[in-house]
Amino acid sequence: MADAPALTFARIPHPAPTPAAARAAAIADPGFGKVFSDHMVVIDYDAAKGGWHSPRVGPREPIALDPAASVLHYSQEIFEGMKAYKQADGALALFRPQANAARFNASATRMAMPHLAEDLFVEAVRQLVDIDRDWFPAVEGGSLYLRPFMFATEAFLGVRPATQYKFLVIASPAGNYFKSGAPAVSIWISDYSRAAPGGTGAAKTGGNYAASLVPTAEAFAKGHDQVLFLDAVEHNWVEELGGMNLFFVFDDGTIATPPLTGTILPGITRDSLIQLAREEGLTLREAPYNIEQWQADAASGRLVEVMACGTAAVVTAVGHVAGPDREFTIGSGGPGQLTTKLREKLVGIQRGAIGDPHGWVMRVG
Ligand SMILES: *Cc1c(COP(=O)(O)O)cnc(C)c1O
Repeated sequence: MADAPALTFARIPHPAPTPAAARAAAIADPGFGKVFSDHMVVIDYDAAKGGWHSPRVGPREPIALDPAASVLHYSQEIFEGMKAYKQADGALALFRPQANAARFNASATRMAMPHLAEDLFVEAVRQLVDIDRDWFPAVEGGSLYLRPFMFATEAFLGVRPATQYKFLVIASPAGNYFKSGAPAVSIWISDYSRAAPGGTGAAKTGGNYAASLVPTAEAFAKGHDQVLFLDAVEHNWVEELGGMNLFFVFDDGTIATPPLTGTILPGITRDSLIQLAREEGLTLREAPYNIEQWQADAASGRLVEVMACGTAAVVTAVGHVAGPDREFTIGSGGPGQLTTKLREKLVGIQRGAIGDPHGWVMRVG
């Protein structure tokens, strides 16, 4: 593990930034992940040069890679997803960025990649938000989505951890995550598995997403918004959606969410909701829940709400569940009271509309 370089970033403003009119058009209707800001952060790693070096924020541009770069062959790649939110006074702020930095290093450990000091990770994100703050979307509920990522650049075809890497951060103005903008989503129970015990399910690595594309396409083709993965061994225990964690709300005021056993991604939204729910006086259990029980509880009315959560879509109600051999609706099929309440609370904290007793919000000037 290399020492952290100084937190001094070379700042190279884009020589030909997007014209103001084109930027205004882009941020008026950004969608999700389609429009990118003018700059990016780059930090290089070379084990032979003492680790991380040359942090800089400069023009967003293509990257030259050797065709033998090991990421192209053995997929040493990890990423994070986080957002900057606009506060009541117009300042931009990050939500729990240290949690993203810590998870990034946990993913790095699993993928045999070097750690990046947490304060360097957070400073990299701050640098980009600062230089591209004019890319904040001009839409209700908009945010600036930030994508820190790292990949192996060493030209070497032997199978071992690379000795050279790049860490980058790019930014993308974001509107609403779900294409339909639906108040409750419909999910498809996949026959495919996302993660096996001992695998990489808890790491935020591109390969997990590559493996989820076929199941997700199947869910879309059947008219659903998202794919649900069950456990790989018994194909019975509920794990998570393609990119969101799940919560089950019962009529006795208790809530359950699948435990972090290594096959699901430890969401920061999940962790935040656990804390908020407990503060609401609700009993929260991290406990396995199986699909048979889910269907039975939905039918009996014991299960009143299901929430899906993640940075991209925040908190969303799951209204409808279907699979090869079952189909059922939760409650009225629309968003329930607790989903709405917790969503408003979390969004309120993120946007500075309500207090932040946990110190989750980091203003970026
Ligand atoms: C990123 C991700 C989540 C959500 O994590 P957040 O930190 O809440 O954004 C959930 N599941 C998967 C598979 C993910 O990649």
